[in-house]
Amino acid sequence: MEIHKLSGWEISQKIKNKELTLDKVISFFKERIKKFNPQLNSLVSLFEDVEFPSSEFSSELWGVPILIKDNICIKNREITCASKILKGFISCYDATVIEKIKKAGLVILGTTNMDEFAFGSSCENSCYGPTLNPYNKQYVSGGSSGGSAAGVSAGLSPLALGSDTGGSIRQPASFCGVVGFKPTYGRISRYGLVAFGSSLDVIGPLARDIRDIAYLLEIISGWDAKDSTSSLQEKKSFSSALEDNIKGLKIALPKEYFVAGLNKEVEESIKEAIKVFESKGAYISEINLPHTEYAVPCYYILSSSEASSNLSRFDGIRYGARKKAKDLIEVYKKTRREGFGKEAKRRIMLGTFSLSSGYYEAYYLKALKVRSLIKKEFQEVFKYYQAIITPTSPTPPFQIGERVEDPLSMYLSDVYTIPSNLSGIPSVSLPCGFTKEGLPVGLQIMANHFSEDILIKVSFSYQSVTNWHKIYPKDYD
Ligand code: GLN
Repeated sequence: MEIHKLSGWEISQKIKNKELTLDKVISFFKERIKKFNPQLNSLVSLFEDVEFPSSEFSSELWGVPILIKDNICIKNREITCASKILKGFISCYDATVIEKIKKAGLVILGTTNMDEFAFGSSCENSCYGPTLNPYNKQYVSGGSSGGSAAGVSAGLSPLALGSDTGGSIRQPASFCGVVGFKPTYGRISRYGLVAFGSSLDVIGPLARDIRDIAYLLEIISGWDAKDSTSSLQEKKSFSSALEDNIKGLKIALPKEYFVAGLNKEVEESIKEAIKVFESKGAYISEINLPHTEYAVPCYYILSSSEASSNLSRFDGIRYGARKKAKDLIEVYKKTRREGFGKEAKRRIMLGTFSLSSGYYEAYYLKALKVRSLIKKEFQEVFKYYQAIITPTSPTPPFQIGERVEDPLSMYLSDVYTIPSNLSGIPSVSLPCGFTKEGLPVGLQIMANHFSEDILIKVSFSYQSVTNWHKIYPKDYD
C-alpha cells in the first residue's frame, strides 16, 4: 500500500478498520521524512518522541500525521520562526489550534521551514536555508509556509498547518501543487501564533484533498476566549459542504487579475478550469475590482507597520538568544542586529518609518483608507456573486535566487493573494495544472466573510472531475 498517497481521512479510516496500525503509519512517515527531508529542507525539526493520541477515535482525522509551521507554539518544543533571534526558545504552552488537533487525535510529526517571521514569498529568508520545490529543486517552494507546502507535496505528511498574512498559505500551496486554505479573519484562534500583522494574520490548513481540509477546519475553528479577535460567528459544518453541486452558482472573474504580467501558461490553466465550472452549470461573468492595483503598496505599509510593532518584543531579554553587551541598550541593539535577517530588518524599518510622526498620515493612515475601499469593493461584488476566481500567483514558481535580492519583484508575487487578507475574506488555492516544464499552477477562489462552505463546495466539485491534486512530483511518487 502506498500510504503517502492516501488522504488523511483515508488513513484514519484504515486505522479504524484495522487495515493499518497507528504505529505503522507513524513509522512510515518518519522514515519518509528521514529519507527525503535532507533533499528538500521542508522540516526544521522532526519529533522522535511523537505524542500518541488517546485510544478514543475522537475525529475523522484521528491518527493522521500533521506538520506545523515553525511560528505556532507547541508545548515543550522549540519555536524559532526560522529566525536566529529565537534560536533555543522553548514554548511553554500549546497554541489553541495545537490543543484542538491533539484532542482530535492527530499526530504532530515536526515543525516546518518558513521565511523568517513569515516575511517572504519564497522560503529563502530562513535561517535554515531555503525549502526547495519538490517538482524541481532549482525552484522555490513559495512562502512563507514553503516548508508545509513542500512537505505535503512530497508526501512527508498528508496534512500541515501554515499561516497567511498576505498569501503565505495559498502561494506556496500553488507552487507545490497542493491545496492551501486561508479562512476568514477571526474564524480560527491565533492564540499561540507568533504575530506578524495582527489585523491580517490567520492560521489555515494545507493538504492535497479538500475533504481533509474541511475536516481539519472543523477541528481547529471556533471562538476562543484567549483571542479577542476570534469570531463569535457560529461554527458551520464544513464537511456537509463536500458536495458536487455548483449548478446556478454565480462566479465572478475580475478583469484586473487577467492583465499584462500574468504568465500565459498560468492564464491557460485558469481558463481551462473555468470551463470545468461552466460545464457544471455555474454562471461565469467578468467584473471589475478597480482598486486591485493599490493592494500591494497598501499591504506592505500596513503589514510592515504592524510587524515593526509586533517585533519590538524580541529584545534579547524575554525570548530566545541574548547577546552580551556593556549595558541594556547595547544588549537590545546587538541582539537585534545579529538576530534578525535582512528582510526582517527591512520590514521593521519600513514599518517604523510609516508610523513615525510626520509620515503617519501620508502612509499608514492613507493605507488604512485604501484598505476600506478594497473591502467595500468586495462587499459590492458579493451582493451579486458567491465566488470570485483568479490565478493564485501571476507566475509559476521562480528559480532559487531569482528574486531574493529584488524586494519589489518579490512583493509583486503577492498581488493576487493580498486583497483577501486586506478584506478579511476566505480564499483557497487549488492545483489546476502544470507548465510545460512540469511546474504546478494554482487557482484561487474567494468568497464572502464566513462563507468557507462555498469554497469547499466549489473545490470539491472541481476535485471530483480533475486529477491535478493527485499528481505527485516524480522524485517523490
Ligand atoms: N509574501 C507576503 C509577505 O512577504 C505574505 C507573507 C505572509 O502571508 N506571511 O509579506
